[in-house]
Amino acid sequence: MRILVVEDETKVARALQEGLERQQYEVVVAGTGEEGFYLVSAEEFDLVILDLMLPGRDGLQVLGTLRKRGLVTPVLILTARDAIEDRVQGLDKGADDYLVKPFAFPELLARVRALLRRGRTQQVALRLQLADLEMDLVPRRVRRGGKDVECTASIPGTPKDEALESKAGVLPAACLKAHFASTSACLH
Ligand code: CA
Repeated sequence: MRILVVEDETKVARALQEGLERQQYEVVVAGTGEEGFYLVSAEEFDLVILDLMLPGRDGLQVLGTLRKRGLVTPVLILTARDAIEDRVQGLDKGADDYLVKPFAFPELLARVRALLRRGRTQQVALRLQLADLEMDLVPRRVRRGGKDVECTASIPGTPKDEALESKAGVLPAACLKAHFASTSACLH
């Protein structure tokens, strides 16, 4: 499993790298937002640990651009910013989890394990297509024939509703396909 750590504080970056390598993860460290952006665009990672306050392009800008480009790699934000609006903004920009510094290393490791488990499922479930109907769970968008479909109806308990409301957005592909099949007639 390859993890990219985007962190400008050398001490923190080194501690993360050493701790994660002890758990047998392969770790690459980027010291700036630009470097992190370049690496995650050019190479395959299973997880990105992203600091928010970085020199140059900050973490939220990096994350927002990556998600707009369709990158589905799980992202764990690790930052000293702990205001609720910062967390909300981070999650809305496409982060999968958020941990505030200072943090306990065992908790970081538990979150890393959880994201890596979930990441394997998300590769299948994040973007689904049935004929000309597409559902993208990261920007929460439904398109039909290339055109956006406005989803105003919300039926609690349906797979679509659960998937759109869940930050994790993890549902079996077969379940969503069945839901598309049963509701696609309504979108004509
Ligand atoms: Ca920083």
